[in-house]
Amino acid sequence: MYAIKVELKLNNKERTKMAQHAGFSRFIYNHGLFLMQQLDHKEYKGGSGKKINEIKKIFTRFTKKQPGLEWTNKLSSRVYQNSFASLKNAFTRWHKGLGKYPQFKRQKDKRSFTVDASNGKVLLEAGKKIKIPTLGFFRLKESLPCRYVTQTFTISETAEKWFVSFCVDAEKIPSLMHEAAAPVGVDLGVKCFATCSDGSKYVAPQPYKKAKTKLGKQQWRNRNKVLGNRKQGIKASNNAKKHYAKLAKTHAHIANIRKDFLHKTTTEMSRKYAVIHIEDLNVAGMIANHKLASAISDLGFYEFRRQLGYKQKHYGNRVMLVDRWYPSSKTCHNCGNVQPMPLSERTYECGECGQTADRDLNAALNLASVPTSKLKPLEP
Ligand SMILES: [Zn+2]
Repeated sequence: MYAIKVELKLNNKERTKMAQHAGFSRFIYNHGLFLMQQLDHKEYKGGSGKKINEIKKIFTRFTKKQPGLEWTNKLSSRVYQNSFASLKNAFTRWHKGLGKYPQFKRQKDKRSFTVDASNGKVLLEAGKKIKIPTLGFFRLKESLPCRYVTQTFTISETAEKWFVSFCVDAEKIPSLMHEAAAPVGVDLGVKCFATCSDGSKYVAPQPYKKAKTKLGKQQWRNRNKVLGNRKQGIKASNNAKKHYAKLAKTHAHIANIRKDFLHKTTTEMSRKYAVIHIEDLNVAGMIANHKLASAISDLGFYEFRRQLGYKQKHYGNRVMLVDRWYPSSKTCHNCGNVQPMPLSERTYECGECGQTADRDLNAALNLASVPTSKLKPLEP
């Protein structure tokens, strides 16, 4: 079994719905815990599980119908079923010495709740929509790569984003979804974001470059504005404030384009290739070249690697890191000759065998066929 977690794409109404259910879940947990604390355990014998079941029965038959609690009837009953189950679980863990005595959940705690399909497992279709039992259909930020069979769904919020996670049986993950079984080498570059040894290329989107130019222009045009200085007690002019607001918007726009591009690229690669070889980047070495370092951090190579790493779980593929000293750019893929390759050289012209190849493709081919001794798995 392993868990798949995907981001939901919610509108305001749906966000409210999720928040309400999370509130419901917290309410039930605290309600059950409170009653457990009030119970005279000398008078009522039996384990916590049995007692919580009784509390649940009373809640269903009586408490739920009381004035002031009508709102609970508008929400999914699977929430309180699961919330009571989680309270039971907390008590079991405490009895076994595996956890602390259950604590009340606070409003500021992470919002989450669990629902399940009461009639057994359900089939989730591949694609950008997900049907969550008792809650309905929701859009996803990224599509599900294949069909899954599952029963329990946990919805949670992190940094104002909502996620749904569910467990699937590991053996049911189709490995067949990878088009390419042989290792593919991926060379990351400033000119072309990613070049694969099978010839595919991933170029950073044009709007990104446009936005970057716009940003540069904005900063240059506003170079003489009174931008304010807190230490010297200089207040920013109104025009400077406007400039800041515009700048922040452009920055957010760029970040969004990049995020979108990286997600699409890593998903496509994880889906297509069973084994991916990428260079183990050396930060320290790159800092020496400031211009390159800025370009690289801008392009999001680290984010790219992080995403490839965690997506291994989703797509059942493997990502291997190639030793950073392996001369993938300097080696001729055809004959193995090693020669200097300044960054400005876009074509590899082998001095030994005369082979010419695109610089990035040559590097990618070398990364694909690197000896296993130079590889280590990328931990998700
Ligand atoms: Zn050669």
